[in-house]
Amino acid sequence: MIDLRSDTVTLPTAAMRAAMAAAEVGDDVYGEDPTVRALEERAAELLGTEAALFVPSGTMGNQVAIACHTRPGQEVIVEASSHIYNVELGTMARFSGVQPRVIPGERGVFTPAQVEAAIRPDLYYLAPTGLVCLENTHNAAGGRIWPVGGAREILALAHRRGIPVHLDGARIFNAAVALGLPARELAHGFDSVMFCLSKGLGCPVGSLLCGSGAFIAEARRVRKALGGGMRQAGILAAAGLYALEHHVDRLAEDHEHARLLAEGLAQIPGLSVVPPETNIVLIRIERGPDAATLCARLRARGVLASPAGAGTSPREVRMVTHLGISRRDVARTVDLVAEELRAAGA
Ligand SMILES: *Cc1c(COP(=O)(O)O)cnc(C)c1O
Repeated sequence: MIDLRSDTVTLPTAAMRAAMAAAEVGDDVYGEDPTVRALEERAAELLGTEAALFVPSGTMGNQVAIACHTRPGQEVIVEASSHIYNVELGTMARFSGVQPRVIPGERGVFTPAQVEAAIRPDLYYLAPTGLVCLENTHNAAGGRIWPVGGAREILALAHRRGIPVHLDGARIFNAAVALGLPARELAHGFDSVMFCLSKGLGCPVGSLLCGSGAFIAEARRVRKALGGGMRQAGILAAAGLYALEHHVDRLAEDHEHARLLAEGLAQIPGLSVVPPETNIVLIRIERGPDAATLCARLRARGVLASPAGAGTSPREVRMVTHLGISRRDVARTVDLVAEELRAAGA
C-alpha cells in the first residue's frame, strides 16, 4: 500500500528501533529517566527555550499549554480550521473551562488586525482573552507556513496586552526546513511551543512542549493530573533523539515529493491543486467522483488517501508525503488518479 493519508503512519526504521532497544531508562515520574531528560534538553535547545516536557501526544501538549496559560472563564483565540479548535474534542472547555474565540483565517492564517479586533476590552462582563494560538505549519490549510512577519506582529500586540501566545508547531520542523531557518527562529517570542515527533519525524509516539522553566514546571504537574506521567519512557524518547538527529533535514525530500505529486495531479483534467509549501497536498475535484468515492477507488488499487478534514468540502482530498513515500510511489499515485478520473469521464 502507498499510504498518503497522513505522516502519522510512518513506521520506525531499523536504526530507530535499535536506538530504542539500547536506551538507558529509569522512572521518569521520579525524574530518573536519563533518555527522557536528554530528549527534553535537546528539544529545548532546538526550540531556544529554557525547558521542555515530553508528552504522549500533540493534543496533550496543546491542552496542557492551554491549561497552564489560562484561567476558567477566559477566551482563547484560535483560527477556524485549526487543529486545536476542530479535532481536539472541545478539550479546552472540558479541562480548562475556557471558550474558543474563533477567527476565520485566509487559508489558515489570520492577520494581526483580526487578532487586535478579537481581543476583549477590559469590561467586567466580558470573558477576558487569556491566550492566542497559532498553528505552523497549518494542517488543514495544506501544510501552510505561517508568515514569519505576521506571527511577529501578533506576538508583539498580544504581549503588549499581557496575553500569552502558544504555537501549535506539530510540524514546525517542516516549516523550518522549507524556509531554511532554524526552528528556534520560528519559535522565538512564543510563550510555549508544541511539536510532534510522531508525524514527519517518524517516531512511534510522542510530542514535546517547550517553554520557560517556570511554565514547564507547571506543565509537568498538569501532565501528571491528566494521566500523562510516564515511567520508563526513555524507550520512546530514544526514538525522538534519533529523529531529531537523523530525520529533520530529510523533510526536504518529503517537500520535494509533495511538489512533484501536486505538479503531476495538477495536469489531470478535472482536478485543481493548491501548490504545497511543505508535505501536505490538497486536491480539489472540480469534475469527477466525490472525494470519498475517489479515495475508495484508489484504496482498491493500493493507494490510501483521505477526504480532507472536518468541515471542509466533500470534493477535497488530502495526500501527505513522509519517509515511507518514494518518488516512485508519487509517480504511481499520479498515474492511478489520472486513470480513475479518465474512467469517470472527467
Ligand atoms: C497531529 C496534530 C496535533 C495533535 O497531535 P496528536 O499527537 O495526534 O494528538 C496537533 N496539532 C496539529 C496541527 C496536528 O497536525
